[in-house]
Amino acid sequence: MFRARGLVWVGCLLVVSALASACAANTPTPLQKGLRVVAIESFLADMAQNVAGDRLHVDTLMPIGADPHGFEPTPQDVKKIAESDVLILNGAGFEEFLQKLVQNAGGEHQLIQASKGLTSRALKPNEPHDADNPGDPHFWFDPTKAVTYVENIRDGLTHADPAGAATYAQNAAAYIAKLNALDEKIKQQVSVIPPARRKLVTDHDTFGYFADRYGFEIVGMIAPSFSTADSSTAQQLAQLIDTIKATNAPAIFLEQNANPALAAQLARDTGAQVVTGLYTHSLSEPNGPAPTYIQMLEYDTQKIVDALK
Ligand SMILES: [Zn+2]
Repeated sequence: MFRARGLVWVGCLLVVSALASACAANTPTPLQKGLRVVAIESFLADMAQNVAGDRLHVDTLMPIGADPHGFEPTPQDVKKIAESDVLILNGAGFEEFLQKLVQNAGGEHQLIQASKGLTSRALKPNEPHDADNPGDPHFWFDPTKAVTYVENIRDGLTHADPAGAATYAQNAAAYIAKLNALDEKIKQQVSVIPPARRKLVTDHDTFGYFADRYGFEIVGMIAPSFSTADSSTAQQLAQLIDTIKATNAPAIFLEQNANPALAAQLARDTGAQVVTGLYTHSLSEPNGPAPTYIQMLEYDTQKIVDALK
């Protein structure tokens, strides 16, 4: 193996420069230590690291478990952003705190908006929603939309580090194949749920794209908002209890930072099963059940399937 690689490299030295790029594809690309890449959320850092491979290290701004909707950056976060060369964000209004932070942090960054090119889903007629919100930024709950994230990250890294183009293209293609396999796996997993039970009640509006892709109905939300920064009123909760009873929604799905007392009350008042601990806006710790983006979607899907099948 080493011998063969050495021969290719020696061969490159002997040919004219016009052929050198063809040879370069066979030679391992060196690690770009100079480029500082920071992704805002852990799931974006995981996607980006899959594209970057061994060539770049992708740092994460937000600690594991933090909620991007209500995130309060520390002075260290400001410093990290100021020192970054490439900043990867979800975009589409998801990181409400970021615009001000980038302005205050100073420095020169290339911004990669992972969701660039995706358009917000249309809400279904009976779906609860926040009229003030311009759109749903939770695209990553459909792996086929995460493919667009990966393409944007690939193009952004290539722009920042053109010499790594072949590496990023190859890694992105391999990862996109995994995302397409994930999509197929989720279809298989949810196929055991009877169509009449494909009903989701969640704590905020995270699962819209998942619902559209895999044939679920969004029945209700504890906080009918695209942001966890908003909370629900007593009137909205009373309405939700009525809706859960009227639709026979079997379960209420709560994310990591949801209010357990509120969930217990809903379970008492409706008879629905409460499923806690879904990973949605952050991966788990490395030794937890959802340490990668793909494992996060697999884990959540399995929890949903277990409760509804
Ligand atoms: Zn959210």
